[in-house]
Amino acid sequence: MNMSTYKPTAVKIGLEVHAQLSTSQKLYCDCPTNYMDAQPNTNICPICYGLPGNKPMPLNKKAVESAIEIADLLDSDVVRGEVRIMRKHYDYPDLPNGYQKTSTPIAVGGKFKGVRIRDMHIEDDPGRYELMKGEVDYNRSGVPLIEIVTEPDMKSAEQARDFWKELTESLMYTGLVRTEPGSIRADVNVSINGGTRVEIKNVNSSKGVQHALNYEIKRQEKAARRGREIHLETRGFLEDKMTTVALRSKETAEDYRYIPDPDIPPIVLTESWIEKILKNSKEPFKNVQNRLANVYAISLEQAALLASYPKARDIFESLPDYVNRKNAASWLTTEIRSISKKRGIGLENLYLDRPEVKTIIMASEHQPDKAIIRSALESVIVDKKAVDIESIKNYTTFKDERIYKVTNLIISENPQLVKEYKTGKSELFNYFVGAAMKRAGKGTDSKKVAEALKKALA
Ligand SMILES: [Zn+2]
Repeated sequence: MNMSTYKPTAVKIGLEVHAQLSTSQKLYCDCPTNYMDAQPNTNICPICYGLPGNKPMPLNKKAVESAIEIADLLDSDVVRGEVRIMRKHYDYPDLPNGYQKTSTPIAVGGKFKGVRIRDMHIEDDPGRYELMKGEVDYNRSGVPLIEIVTEPDMKSAEQARDFWKELTESLMYTGLVRTEPGSIRADVNVSINGGTRVEIKNVNSSKGVQHALNYEIKRQEKAARRGREIHLETRGFLEDKMTTVALRSKETAEDYRYIPDPDIPPIVLTESWIEKILKNSKEPFKNVQNRLANVYAISLEQAALLASYPKARDIFESLPDYVNRKNAASWLTTEIRSISKKRGIGLENLYLDRPEVKTIIMASEHQPDKAIIRSALESVIVDKKAVDIESIKNYTTFKDERIYKVTNLIISENPQLVKEYKTGKSELFNYFVGAAMKRAGKGTDSKKVAEALKKALA
């Protein structure tokens, strides 16, 4: 290659993310959605099995509400007015009707992690076709999907990987999508130097996104160097080989022969319905993360780990004010995860709801021997064993906790006096110290009591 004409590759990557919504019923019938646990072809009815003459039920309302909450997470504007269901025709054994039902956009625009969102749709998942066996299982047919389409804003495989990782984590955090392996999948599109766009189908992990893209970018660069044209096409990603292979030349919108589905009435998204849904929706992941980091002065990384693990977050947020948050966050994120990894038990299966956990976390900042805390925690959250809490407390420093407890008690018991103190009656301070000393008992350090009171009254 002539170096003088060398031009660094400009990469444009976009994603179409398909996530299964965690509704209990399918999109157009009331068949259950637990397609992985059920025997093949048992969660089916004439509607999702596509028998001739079947009439779909109106769109599952819960799926629409989930989509609206997800739109909010992505800063995407929910469409006001009619949303139509379109028939998207193509022939494949997993699609019993010969068309997929896909909505016109539920939301448009938006941004997530610096990547612009184009729009979002609701559609139904097809069945599962096993090419080698020639078998189809229609349990999955009709399971609701949300499709999130981004603009081609990502410039490297690594950026796309990070986007995918954060998006899937945030979606799972909402509890609105299914979390089993394979329940969130992406079609990844990439072009280099303004050339033709190639789409890679069905990538379902962050590593997959990165490897499929890096392979595809190299393949396109190589073709360009040899003067070969890149064709508009759809490729498949072979996860085990980390390569992509040609599947078919990419269909255009005309190929799908879109028509409005005459059997399904459009849904109307009204202002009051949207407002009601968003009012009850969960605090978005990013908000929780930022709030935890700001309020408790912990790192964004620790805040993300707590935000994505509600059981640990509940404990963290219920700790009294005097507890050292950095220490507590470290036990509730890194340490707990290392115990889970060491014992090979998933975070969702740890017994974090045991009351001893909070006490152990609180004792940890006074106990210089970390091994004692670690083993107590492991016994409780993995083996569900009772531990002698008294034996792990280090009383030379743990006394402080009692002082803080007592001073907070005195303050909460005397709201009127606290008000007077705060509006200028400063002599009340001595009264508070005296009351706290009396409550704390013999041998209490009055200096420490005064210090704790000052802090608590501030
Ligand atoms: Zn059905």
